Amino acid sequence: MKTNTFFFACVCTLFTLAAQAQTQVIAHRGFWKTEGSAQNSIAALLKAAEAKVYGSEFDVQLTADGAVVVNHDATIGGLTIADAKFDQLKDLKLKNGETLPTLDSYLRAGQKLPGIRFILEIKPHKTKEQEERISKACVNMVREYGLEKQVEYISFSMNVCEQLVKLNPDAKVAYLEGDVAPKDIKAKGLTGIDYPYNALYQHPEWVKEAHELGLTVNAWTVNKEEDMKKLIGMKVDFITTDHPLEAKKLVK
Ligand code: MG
Repeated sequence: MKTNTFFFACVCTLFTLAAQAQTQVIAHRGFWKTEGSAQNSIAALLKAAEAKVYGSEFDVQLTADGAVVVNHDATIGGLTIADAKFDQLKDLKLKNGETLPTLDSYLRAGQKLPGIRFILEIKPHKTKEQEERISKACVNMVREYGLEKQVEYISFSMNVCEQLVKLNPDAKVAYLEGDVAPKDIKAKGLTGIDYPYNALYQHPEWVKEAHELGLTVNAWTVNKEEDMKKLIGMKVDFITTDHPLEAKKLVK
C-alpha cells in the first residue's frame, strides 16, 4: 500500500512538472556573438535558428519615406533613420559585411526557418502617426509572408502595443518598459510582459500574477549565469540574452 501511495505521488509530481512550462531562450538581436554574425543581421537570425532557441529578437524602425529597416540604433552610417530616405540607407553595411536588412528581407529569410519564432521589436517613434504607420506595415508584411503564427511583437511604446492589438487581435504582444503591473497589461489586451530583469526582481509577485492572468513573462537582457539561474527559478517563460548557448544549457 505504501509503495502504491509513493508511486501515485511520484506520478502526480511528474504531471505537475510537465504542466509547468520550462523557461525558453530568445537570442537578443539574433545570435550575434559568433563568427560571421552581427547584431540584427540575417546571419544572426540564421545562427539563432541553428542554435535551436525558441526565438530570435530584432528591432525595426521606419525611414522618412516609410520603409521598414532592421536596426537597433536610431542612426546608422552617420544618418538618422527616421530622417533618411531608404535610398540613402539601402547600401549601408553591417559589421559582418551584410547589407542593412529590411523587414522584407528578414521575413523572406524567416520563411525558410519554421522552427523559430521571430520576436519583432518596433522601436518607439517621435509621432503617433509614425508609430501607426510602422505597426500597420509590420502586421501587413507578416500577413503577406504568412508568418502570423511565428511572429511575436514587443515594444517600449504602449501606443505601438495598443495599435498592434487593434490591427491583429490574435497577435502575441508584450510591453517592454517594466513599469506596468500585469493586471493593467491584461486590461489593454496585451498578451505578455517582457521586462528588464531588475523590474522582476523588484516585483517578483508579477511573475505569478501574470501567469494567473494568462500572460507570458519574458526577462531581458540576461547575460550573467547567476541571473539566468535566478530567473529560471522564478519560472519566467523566456530569457532574452546575448548568450543563447549558455542559457540553453541552464534551462535543460
Ligand atoms: Mg530590441
